Amino acid sequence: MAHRKSSLPARAASGTVSCRKLLLVLGDQLDRRSAVLDGASPEHDRVLMIEARSESRRIHSHKARSALFFAAMRHHAGWLRDQGFTVDYYEIDSPESDSLGSALMHAIGRLRPEMLTMIEAGEFGVQQEIDRACDLAGLPGEALPDGHFYCSRDAFAAWRKGRRTLVMEHFYRHMRKHHSILMDDGKPTGGQWNYDRQNRKSFGRKGPGLLPVQARLAPDALTRKVLASVERLLPDNPGQLSGFAWPVTREQALDALDDFVAHRLAAFGPFQDAMWDGEPLLYHSALSAALNLKLLSPREVVERALEAHRAGAAPLSSVEGFVRQILGWREYVRGIYWSEMPGYTERNALDAQQPLPGFYWSGDTDMACLRAVIDQTLALGYAHHIQRLMVTGLFALLLGVRPRALHEWYLAVYVDAVEWVEAPNTIGMSQHADGGLLGSKPYVASGRYIERMSNYCAGCRYAPHEASGARACPFTTLYWDFLMRHEARFSGHPRAAMQWRMLERLGQAERTRIGRQAAALRQRLAR
Ligand code: FAD
Ligand code: SF4
Repeated sequence: MAHRKSSLPARAASGTVSCRKLLLVLGDQLDRRSAVLDGASPEHDRVLMIEARSESRRIHSHKARSALFFAAMRHHAGWLRDQGFTVDYYEIDSPESDSLGSALMHAIGRLRPEMLTMIEAGEFGVQQEIDRACDLAGLPGEALPDGHFYCSRDAFAAWRKGRRTLVMEHFYRHMRKHHSILMDDGKPTGGQWNYDRQNRKSFGRKGPGLLPVQARLAPDALTRKVLASVERLLPDNPGQLSGFAWPVTREQALDALDDFVAHRLAAFGPFQDAMWDGEPLLYHSALSAALNLKLLSPREVVERALEAHRAGAAPLSSVEGFVRQILGWREYVRGIYWSEMPGYTERNALDAQQPLPGFYWSGDTDMACLRAVIDQTLALGYAHHIQRLMVTGLFALLLGVRPRALHEWYLAVYVDAVEWVEAPNTIGMSQHADGGLLGSKPYVASGRYIERMSNYCAGCRYAPHEASGARACPFTTLYWDFLMRHEARFSGHPRAAMQWRMLERLGQAERTRIGRQAAALRQRLAR
């Protein structure tokens, strides 16, 4: 693997060297085949791992998110020790673990390494913090490219160069061709690039019926110890730990992958957009956290899905839909993040200034859809894509919540939350705060979309088709209000115009009623 020197500075001071290389392994770099170990010597080099308190407290992180990271890191440290490495591990309650930088400075002072080697950090601010610490200590270092991804940061920059629009579908087709995935003689397998028309189904009134039971991973002794420390050390952080069953080792992650491929992949495509109260997983994989921590590689996950198709165990529509999420969306958002940082997380193209409603942290709302998704999020640290995009995200967009506040919420409450994937999804896809870089038009819909795709509305005091009056669904009121507020910006947009043309149906009196009701709602929710 080609090594790229990072911006880490040259060492100034000399000192007693007790180890050759300090191999820094971050919490989301738990790949057993990581390049950081290439050529590393258990005799001369030492591994450093840090659980930083600031990471769980700066953003008020869900208890399950902290527990997942720490449990996976401690298991990985155990595996490294089994390989003969000495691991200097700073647990969350060690005095030096205040921040990544403070623990790193402490380790450098104690071990006096000749240099630091790491895989490039996944988050812009984390790399900056490490660079600063090395700078202060006068320690040279190298940050190696992250080989976990199909598309390197440089390759994405090359793809993006000279393009006026950055359409995901174009990137995805480029990736399919480049990696020969679902391609036959230069053409997409099955003759189509995507099968969206067959997908996007709801369960209808009858509901999802008998769903496959997810294999539960019981926490082992080490994980139980972590769960207890998180309860003790982070008692005020949001979320619950009682249902914790996330994979924290490579073996468990492979079991979770097997379980998904055997029981849920085949129906993933048609039902990927459907929601059902009390059924968080449906046919989704729940593999994002294992992928983001690098317990699984995207290549092996995609390969397993393709194998299932070749074996006749999963239809093309489901396999293509799943592959698109990983080979397309996941790689694309990472490319956007790294080519737009710093500054991307501060974007606010629609000038949204409303505070995040307090119920996002408690689920205490009379809107049944939001209550269900937030309760589920606080219980499990999980919601599937459409719950994030078209319930919590949509409501914030329609209400006009400050994107930065929502970004911090998404970063806090999901176990898979890491900034490089969360920020483009929130700032770009969900809130249109990047002005259309990631999606040329905002994803807006009324309560009727939620009614069509779920059973939430059946148990709600509001009526999804009413835009004003006592029973008006707040999504629907705010939807029309959004169209009115942003009429000048989007009504001439080629892909959005249809949606805005619907405004012509509203008489002036109804427009006024909706505007007033939306303003009252905003005032109430700002309290
Ligand atoms: P599945 O539905 O089974 O999909 C398979 C895999 O595809 C996922 O595991 C994930 O790795 C990948 N994937 C799917 N959709 C996306 C996407 N839009 N962007 C990138 N990868 C995708 N995903 C995260 O991993 N971390 C986040 O912090 C995160 N924040 C999000 C915030 C918002 C506002 C939105 C709308 C989406 C966010 N996503 C995030 C993307 C997506 O919602 C999750 O990856 C997915 O819900 C995880 O559940 P799953 O593993 O069951 O996914
Ligand atoms: Fe949500 Fe509106 Fe449906 Fe109630 S009626 S569940 S608020 S979409």
